[in-house]
Order: sequence, then C-alpha cells, then structure tokens
Amino acid sequence: MQLEVPCFLMICSQLTEKECIEKNLFGDYENRFFALKSINKGDVGFLLNVSQNKLLGIFIAEGPAKLNIEPKAWNGKFAAQVKVKLVGNKPQEIFKASEKLEKFIKLKEKKKEGYPTKIPYQNTYGPEITEKLLSLFEVTKFSKVFQPYPKEIGIFPEINLEDVAGLDEVKNFIYQRIIAPFEDEEKAYSLGLRIGGGMLLFGLPGTGKTLIAMTIAKSIQAKFIDISPSIIIGYPGEAEKRLENIFRTIEKEPRAVVFLDEAEWILCKREVQTSSVMQRITPVLLAQLSQLFKQRTKSIIVIATTNKPEMIDTAFLRPGRFDKIFYIGLPDKKAREKIIKIQTQKRFHKLTNNEIEDLSQKLEGYSGADIENIIEESAFLAFTRRKEDNSAISKKDVDKIIEQIKPSVTFDERQKVEKWAKERGIKSI
Ligand code: ADP
Repeated sequence: MQLEVPCFLMICSQLTEKECIEKNLFGDYENRFFALKSINKGDVGFLLNVSQNKLLGIFIAEGPAKLNIEPKAWNGKFAAQVKVKLVGNKPQEIFKASEKLEKFIKLKEKKKEGYPTKIPYQNTYGPEITEKLLSLFEVTKFSKVFQPYPKEIGIFPEINLEDVAGLDEVKNFIYQRIIAPFEDEEKAYSLGLRIGGGMLLFGLPGTGKTLIAMTIAKSIQAKFIDISPSIIIGYPGEAEKRLENIFRTIEKEPRAVVFLDEAEWILCKREVQTSSVMQRITPVLLAQLSQLFKQRTKSIIVIATTNKPEMIDTAFLRPGRFDKIFYIGLPDKKAREKIIKIQTQKRFHKLTNNEIEDLSQKLEGYSGADIENIIEESAFLAFTRRKEDNSAISKKDVDKIIEQIKPSVTFDERQKVEKWAKERGIKSI
C-alpha cells in the first residue's frame, strides 16, 4: 500500500517527448487507460526518453488520468492522458538514465519506441524508490517542491478479517492472540496478558499483509496509522516534524494500529542504512516505538510488514518487541478462488463457478495482488468490446491475460522468504 507520494515512470521517444513537455501531459493509447488509472494527484512521474536514454524531467501529476484532456495531442493517438507539472523551471537532461533506473526497477518494454507508454503493472513505485530516484538524479535541490500534500494522519479502514482469502491458521491465531484480548480487556488485564505489542508480518509482495493489518484495525476499532518510510523520504527537514505529528496523534487515540510497511528499512542493521535521512530518523523512530512497547496502559499494536525478512536485524524480534511473527504465504487454490470471486463480484462478468475453479488452478504461484491485476486487465479487455455489446468478462478473457502475465514473485524471492521462515521454525507453505 502506498499512502504517500508514489512515483511512476513514463517512457517517451523523440517523437513524443516534445508534446509531453510542451503540453505538460502524459499520454497512452485509449485501451491502456488502465495503466494510467492508478496515478493520483501528487504522484511523482519520471519522464524517460528511451531512444536517447535520457531523463527529461520530474513531474507531479495534477490530477487523475482522464480520456482526451487534450484531444488533439499526439494527433489524437493517445487518448488516455494525465496532466502533469514539471518540477523546476526547465526540463532536465540526465543521460544514461535507464542504467541508473534499472538498478531499482525492472524496465519492461523499454525498447518500445514511438509512443509514450507506461511500464505495465509496475506503474507505481513505493516511496523508497521515490527517494532512491530522487537521490539518483540529484534533484534534491527541487525538494521544496515535493512538499507532502497535507493529509490527515490515520484512517479507519473498512475491511474485515473474513475479506482476506485463505490464511486460515494465521487469521485464527491473530484473532485469538491479538484481537480477542481487545474484546475483553478486563479479563486479559486480570490475567496479566499483554494487550497489543509488536508483530511482524512477513511474506512475498501482494499476499495481503497490508490487508491483514487493516482488518486488525477494523476488528479492534482502532485508528490505522501509517509510519512507512514514505513519511521520512523526500522531504528534507520535514521528516522529524511529521514523526512528531504522528506520535502526537497516537497519543490522542484510545486505540491505534501503528503500521510500518517495508519495515526492513527501519528495522535493518544500522550500518546497512545508506540514506542519511534514514540514519537520522531511525533512532528517533525506534526510540518512540520502544516507548510504545513499554506502555501497558494503552492499547496499541505496532505491525511491521516486510518482503525481505532477511534484512531485518533479529534484535528487533526479541520478546517485548516485534515478537509475534506471522508468515503470510501465497494463496492456495481455495484462496485464489475466493480472491477471483472478490475481484469479480462488482464487475460485469459471466464466469461460472466451475470456470473460476479452473482459473484458480491455473493461477498457482500468483499472489493476491497478481490476481487482482489479472482481473483488472481482463475487465479492460472486455471493455474494448463495449461497442459489440459483449462486454462481460469471460473465461476466455481471463485465460488470455493469464498467458500474458506471469507471477510477479520469482522463484528466488520465494526461496529466500521460505528459507528465513524455516530457519525460525515458522511453518512454510
Ligand atoms: P502486501 O501488503 O502483502 O504487499 P496487500 O495487502 O497490499 O499486499 O495486497 C494487495 C492487494 O491484493 C489487496 O488490496 C487485495 O486486493 C489483494 N490481495 C492480496 N492477498 C489477498 C488475500 N489473501 N485475500 C484477498 N485479497 C488479497
């Protein structure tokens, strides 16, 4: 989940860059509207000319993508458009950009030239990538433009534990050990039980860790307060202030779920931290967290999630810290079926139960987020037939998309996480 300043990469060529810059507009084919749809106001866009391997500038999205903001742009070729604003006064010219970028992101389709395109399925990047990209291109001098949009701290999520497919054992344990004591605080206190505390959810990306953290907040009617690296990154001088505001909010809440996404950045060994912002902020954050862990009069859960548990300094996993550790695995067949159902329930489709079962079989190795993506893509495929009055999502659509999209999780990543789980005697999938 990205709550603050996600960034995205827009690829253009000689033919299309002029229009992007002159009109402050990014565009794509109409049928690829979906690729731009996840861009929101305030997201940071990097414009890369692939044929010259040059970063042309950094832009901020002025609003969500719309069709035909400027119908005549690119001669009407790219109806899906996003209005952007250049950061700084003039476009930059940073050469050998893709090599630098490739250190951090997989540049798919990078050789497709002749039109601006987005990298499919990876179109937004987390805040840590934003920071890396910013530092990579030495644009910190523009940092004052990257002020965070004022946002209220914390949300009350509306998602229930039952909405998380599969993971029955984990959900059960979370209910017994985490949620139930909140439901009967008096009893729990009388038995000297600790309410809240720290937990670590680890597992591959897109497997529902954030979802679970949110369901916990919902179950205990607590405010969900995100202190992911996004609050720290990209805003020199701002991080301390934001941290302070966050902890002031936590103090005011009767119950809170404090969420640390991509926690390896915060919980790694100190010497591994390369960013100076992190080196400055981490001790402050850790001190605040340890205060929270010590509190026994307030009901607070600190939930850290990570896809890279091997990076975490195990000192943080000692009793009294992040001592409840859960492995969130890839969905099994039944869970995949449920995810397909969740994802299609509000969409016009004609999938039968048997077909859903068959699809779920084919989706072995895919994460929940992958499945969500596949259904989204299938919906767009169906949408392209809208004029034929045949726009329900069909099994054929989903099959076609499955052929095109491979699981986002690599064998290596899977092995790494499973090895870590095994070493700690945590049940693996
Ligand atoms: P993570 O935090 O593990 O990277 P998220 O919780 O953000 O992943 O999941 C991304 C999306 O994938 C969710 O919003 C949801 O739509 C879908 N998803 C992933 N796992 C599940 C699951 N077990 N049940 C239902 N939906 C899921």
